[in-house]
Amino acid sequence: PGTLHVVATPIGNLGDLSPRALEILRTVSAICAEDTRHTRQLLAHFGLERPLLALHQHNEDAQAQQLVARLRAGDSLALVSDAGTPLVSDPGFRLVRAARAEGIRVSPVPGACAAIAALSVAGVPSDRFVFEGFLPAKAAARRERLGQLASETRTVMFYESAHRIEETLADMAAVFGGARRAVIARELTKLFETVLDGELTALQAQVAGDPNQRKGEFVVIVEGAGEDEDARIREGQRLYAKLSEYLK
Ligand code: SAM
Repeated sequence: PGTLHVVATPIGNLGDLSPRALEILRTVSAICAEDTRHTRQLLAHFGLERPLLALHQHNEDAQAQQLVARLRAGDSLALVSDAGTPLVSDPGFRLVRAARAEGIRVSPVPGACAAIAALSVAGVPSDRFVFEGFLPAKAAARRERLGQLASETRTVMFYESAHRIEETLADMAAVFGGARRAVIARELTKLFETVLDGELTALQAQVAGDPNQRKGEFVVIVEGAGEDEDARIREGQRLYAKLSEYLK
């Protein structure tokens, strides 16, 4: 059988595509891409042209079976997403699982990942961290998810887009408390790369006051709850439970 190569692509700066990634993209039978037009442009930049197959969240289950059949027949394939590492808030998990279930070799070609790039420059405790990806789009669900994370003591990382960054920072300040420290890593490896750090209230004001700070792509990293804060939140939850009992 062939090999499924899971290939990381740049998150902005095209210089971050590794020589090994290029070599593999050049030699596989076909490349499974989240958006074939996007990947065609990337390949064109490097003077490559390979057959592209669309693999996105709407067809992944159906496509996976056909792709596994090709791998079994001996074709080697590459899996890429639009940016960064496939499967990290991107399609690919079903294909990888289906290939592994058939005993097909699945091999990584590591490279850029926005979350890890952000963590590497954030200057927050990084021995233990939690990756939460995108928060739910709906306000109630988003606040509920943040509520579940309020007493998390590990560093927590989120992905966010330009059109929700303000709401998300406001919700974070409300749920975690405005004094919780955070880092906003924007447009990493690109022309307008900025990394802001500070207390959530100050970051919220900074982003609200500068339209440029609301443009592009964001990783938000929130420091974990301190031990004291943890105890305070537990005490709050205990009082809330008591109060709910009383109000029944
Ligand atoms: N698979 C990708 C990875 O490995 O990072 C993530 C894909 S996810 C659909 C896209 C999100 O990643 C963006 O909304 C943003 O939160 C984050 N992201 C991607 N590129 C970024 C960059 N250059 N700077 C900051 N965040 C970025």
